[in-house]
Amino acid sequence: MQSTGIRSGSSFSLVVLGSVLVVFVATAALLGFFVFWSGAQVDKVGIDRQATRIISSLSQQLRQIAKDQESVGVWDNTLSAISHRDFTWLNHNVARQMSSYFQHDASYILEGDDTPIFAAQAGRRVASSAYDDVAPVVAPMVAELRARTRLGYLDIPPSIADFAVVGGAPAIVGVFPVVSANGEDERRPGEEPILVSVVKLDLRYELGIIDRYMLEAGRFTINPSDTGLSVFPVTNRYGRIVAFYEWQPYLPGTELLAQTVPAFASGFGVLGLVVALLLHRLWRSSRALENKRIDAERQATEDPLTHLPNRLMFEQQFDRILRDPDTTRELPALLMLDLDRFKQVNDTLGHHAGDDLIRAVGDRLRHIVGPDEILARLGGDEFGILCINDLNEPEVMAMCRSIIEAIGRPFRIGGNEAFVGVSIGVVMARPQDRNRHELTRRADIALYEAKSSGRNRAAVYVESMNELVQTRHSMEAELREALKVGDQLWVAFQPLFGRRDGEIVGAEALVRWTHPRRGPIAPMDFVPIAEGSGLIEALGDVVLRRACQIGARWPGLTMAVNISPAQLRNPTFTERIFAVLQETGMRPQDLEIEITESILLDDELVAFDAIRAFRRAGIKIALDDFGTGYSSLNYLKRYPVDRIKIDRSFISQLSTAAASVAIVQALVTLAHALDIEVTAEGVETDEQFRILASMGCNTFQGFLFSKPLEAPALERLLDVPTPLPAARVA
Ligand code: C2E
Ligand code: MG
Ligand code: MG
Repeated sequence: MQSTGIRSGSSFSLVVLGSVLVVFVATAALLGFFVFWSGAQVDKVGIDRQATRIISSLSQQLRQIAKDQESVGVWDNTLSAISHRDFTWLNHNVARQMSSYFQHDASYILEGDDTPIFAAQAGRRVASSAYDDVAPVVAPMVAELRARTRLGYLDIPPSIADFAVVGGAPAIVGVFPVVSANGEDERRPGEEPILVSVVKLDLRYELGIIDRYMLEAGRFTINPSDTGLSVFPVTNRYGRIVAFYEWQPYLPGTELLAQTVPAFASGFGVLGLVVALLLHRLWRSSRALENKRIDAERQATEDPLTHLPNRLMFEQQFDRILRDPDTTRELPALLMLDLDRFKQVNDTLGHHAGDDLIRAVGDRLRHIVGPDEILARLGGDEFGILCINDLNEPEVMAMCRSIIEAIGRPFRIGGNEAFVGVSIGVVMARPQDRNRHELTRRADIALYEAKSSGRNRAAVYVESMNELVQTRHSMEAELREALKVGDQLWVAFQPLFGRRDGEIVGAEALVRWTHPRRGPIAPMDFVPIAEGSGLIEALGDVVLRRACQIGARWPGLTMAVNISPAQLRNPTFTERIFAVLQETGMRPQDLEIEITESILLDDELVAFDAIRAFRRAGIKIALDDFGTGYSSLNYLKRYPVDRIKIDRSFISQLSTAAASVAIVQALVTLAHALDIEVTAEGVETDEQFRILASMGCNTFQGFLFSKPLEAPALERLLDVPTPLPAARVA
């Protein structure tokens, strides 16, 4: 069975918690993103600045080399040393000077025709052929320089400095014309000796510029390493990449993040913890509320004893099924169950045992009823089943049989064995049946039918039952009226005869209703209506009073009165009887109360108390219709009765069924053994009388002797005793 909207509340708190969580996480993510983004921006700006510094330091370097060269290049002594091939001078003033003051790695001097006449490396003169290694790089620069000097210049001669790869390593190469400072030793423009300087961009150099320009630690390389360093391409005059400056950049943004993020993260962590704590508390309290709500809902819809759905839930589900347009094909069958003899268990074993029994019944039903069926406890000892699986009537009846069989098995309750039965009213819904109240009413009618036709059985509702109910309704109203008017209801007396001499030993008072329109109505047709409508007490009063009036006039004659269970259940009933006896003057020992076994089955305790009170007063007790119930013999032992009246059904079969002879004989023998008198009811033939007499029955009642008579006819008969068996009164 589906639960009804139980999740809505928890999904609400889930939505709230979810929203807060999403907002929190989104804020954290946004803030985090912003912080990292600005860090990255700051880093970018930092790297840009560093690159700018590198660019300016490089162009500075190119200018610097020309300045360095100028210190020896514009000097007559140099020119003269070149002309005289004074290598000692050149070694001293050019090679060493350039190396030790300016940290040039190599210096070469070319003559006007580009022939190398002097070469020095690391401040020492080497063979002029060393120039060959740098010639491929230097030659084009020299050619360009000569072209420029040829064009003429003012004070300072033109020079060229550029980045180049020398000996497989990056370097700055500068070419400078050696000219006279005072104009005494003039060469033809374009044919001046040329000073070539090479400054390797090596570690020493790198340290120098890092120091000077406050660059980040880095190095020049031809092949940049793949280690995530920042790289700046170094280009020559033609814009071609010659080398790279790669360095570990200083990242101010990252630095800032490194310092602020831990604080920021732990701050956010604390905030998150607080939010989580708050959320947790909110969640817990909303869960508690939710559980309370579910509990309340369950309590409202569940039977606490069996944990089955209760009547409210059952009705809701029933309405839902009837409203559902899909059920036009699958029509429900409704079963109303009512336990038989439950009250007896409750009264004898106590309410706890009664509760245990209801629980056990619920369990047994649960095993039989399928998962698609709706089983509910409707209250007290009533259960309801809705079969929604499109079962046909034979299938529903098979289920009813299983239920009756299961409930009929003994229950072990607190060390005792309890026996109950179940009556079932069944309604098979038709497509047009959409009204729960109407279907329930029909199931109740069918249940009533099952109960009144002997209990422990199932009855399927048919339309004629409804007519019966209608008739019952109108008869009830008419009976009520008859009780007020007073001349329609009267009492007939059927005499009872003794064995010997055919004398009348008693009479049974039998109520009669002569309806003005319907004519005579049999007690079997209206006594149950009186019992079901609470009119039985008034009706019983009419009979009792009349019986006692007649009984009072014939002391010694046993006057039997039929008593319904409903009368016996009334706690004031014994007093009522005593009052009538007193009022009419009838002797208690002449009154006999006829009860049926069913009262013993239904209300053992109540019956027991009343029976004891009657017997104390001398009133006799007869068990009517004996042999039709279940445990007659058992009751005989437990309840002291004065008489059993063997049911007509046994008597009528005496001449045909040998079994009946044996049963009646056994009953008579047993009753006599317990000192109980036996009356044979409904004796109609001589043969029956003969057999019964030979068995030792004490008294006889039946049409063979007399039909029920009006009081005057009985009294006439009492005046004139007639011998048996010839005594027949029409
Ligand atoms: P019961 O107490 O067993 O009464 C005997 C019934 O058997 C009577 O039917 C009687 O007319 C019928 N009877 C007697 N001898 C013969 C016979 O030889 N053949 C046949 N076929 N029937 C015979 P009645 O008067 O119709 O009553 C039917 C039942 O209604 C009674 O059965 C009793 O249980 C109940 N009843 C009658 N009057 C009262 C009453 O005042 N109060 C209560 N609570 N129940 C009553
Ligand atoms: Mg009777
Ligand atoms: Mg009877």
